[in-house]
Amino acid sequence: MSKYNLVQVGKNCFRYQRTGDMLVDVELYISPELCKKVESGAIKQLIDAATLPGVYKKVVGMPDIHEGFGLPIGGIMASDGEIGVISAGAVGMDINCGVRLLQSPIPVNAVSKRTLEKLVKAIVEQVPVGVGQKNKLGFKSKDFNAILTQGIDYLFKKGLAVATDLEHTEERGYFAGANPDAVSKTARERGFYQLGTLGGGNHFIEIGYIDTIYDQKRADRYGLKKGNITVLIHTGSRAFGHQICTDYSKEMLKEAERLGIRLPSKGLAAVPIHSKCGQRYYQAMAAAINFAFANRQIITHLIREIFADFFGGQHTLTLIYDVAHNIAKFETHFGRKVLVHRKGATRALPAKDPANPSCYQDVGHPAIIPGSMGNPSYVMVGLCGIEETFKSINHGAGRVLSRRAARRQISTDDLKKKIGNVVINTPKFKKILDEAPQAYKDIDQVVMAMEDTGKAKRVARHRPLAVIKG
Ligand code: 5GP
Ligand code: MN
Ligand code: MN
Repeated sequence: MSKYNLVQVGKNCFRYQRTGDMLVDVELYISPELCKKVESGAIKQLIDAATLPGVYKKVVGMPDIHEGFGLPIGGIMASDGEIGVISAGAVGMDINCGVRLLQSPIPVNAVSKRTLEKLVKAIVEQVPVGVGQKNKLGFKSKDFNAILTQGIDYLFKKGLAVATDLEHTEERGYFAGANPDAVSKTARERGFYQLGTLGGGNHFIEIGYIDTIYDQKRADRYGLKKGNITVLIHTGSRAFGHQICTDYSKEMLKEAERLGIRLPSKGLAAVPIHSKCGQRYYQAMAAAINFAFANRQIITHLIREIFADFFGGQHTLTLIYDVAHNIAKFETHFGRKVLVHRKGATRALPAKDPANPSCYQDVGHPAIIPGSMGNPSYVMVGLCGIEETFKSINHGAGRVLSRRAARRQISTDDLKKKIGNVVINTPKFKKILDEAPQAYKDIDQVVMAMEDTGKAKRVARHRPLAVIKG
């Protein structure tokens, strides 16, 4: 229970009124039930963000909110595009961590448990998973630079992406303004061999199927079919983004001090967007954004080859959408150009929003919301009114137990019971206790908290059949 006095001001909307050094209010879009359980630390982090120079309109929390580094996971902070700040900590360590959803025309009943086990084995053989794994791509330094500056456009030229992959990725998988020279040598060295690798912990590849459609019109437009096999990929910019966040957080701390900017916390190290340090961070962040899009694309390519082997080339996996949940972008909100920092929050543009990809212009693009390895995940869409959250929704269920608490409180038997028939890539359940469904909030409660704000809705549900954890 938070010690802060949050006042309910609307259906699933709570406000902490501006006070003290705060320049704007804090708003939390959450159900009363979930609101009671939010830790004070997470609210404190939203309040801290509300004191940053140039912070615009309000700082927003999502129903999956929990404490993070700087800004909470499930936090959104927009700063004025002219006089505002940019904060490495408000983007997060895993720059452009995100999720993509692919669908195959293969019906779920055509895939046996034995086939799933074989698929998992084949994927693990091709896609390096786990901390510190290296890729076998054979990319040269100039390929790496091209990826950092061109994102998946470059992979398309190399035959590692198809045209619809570009259209079905946020920003078309290419974020402008990247400069490899703004990236430290350490970040580059750490990132080079990690491109095309899944990473550890919370990152996953999941095979599942669409078991429910809630909005037939949008499902049809997205191409989602009930009963079809789907693949979810959740990963980001690996050690590359992590190192960039670490490097620039340090630099921003020093620079803020030099400029006389008072920071609310070390995690929220920030400098003016248009300062030299701010610009260089933006260029490095852009490189990490492109890295992460490329990372998910390369993994997609490898999985497509495996699916072609198993089911024949005509049964290819189509990308439904790829969306980031740790990112800062210039966007227009309430008529003003702002830099929106989304940390554990997903952009969800409503129908008719001109920033939608043209193929989803009339309905709004899909927003992919993972649940956990034993629970469903959702495809959602933003609706009219989503402007109030800077056109953002939650990014998952959100943790309810820290990794350490999860390892202490959950037994391997609890985990086995919870995941039932879902195939897992490792027999060592002890190692994945911190990723057990019980370590996360109830995804249905979180998604319904979001839907009940009236600003977003469910389109379809994906159920897990097999999960590969790093
Ligand atoms: P994060 O980016 O904060 O690490 O994770 C995003 C969300 O992914 C979590 O809040 C959680 O709801 C979800 N998640 C974690 N592990 C899994 C998994 O194995 N499968 C699915 N579908 N979702 C997961
Ligand atoms: Mn991540
Ligand atoms: Mn993530």
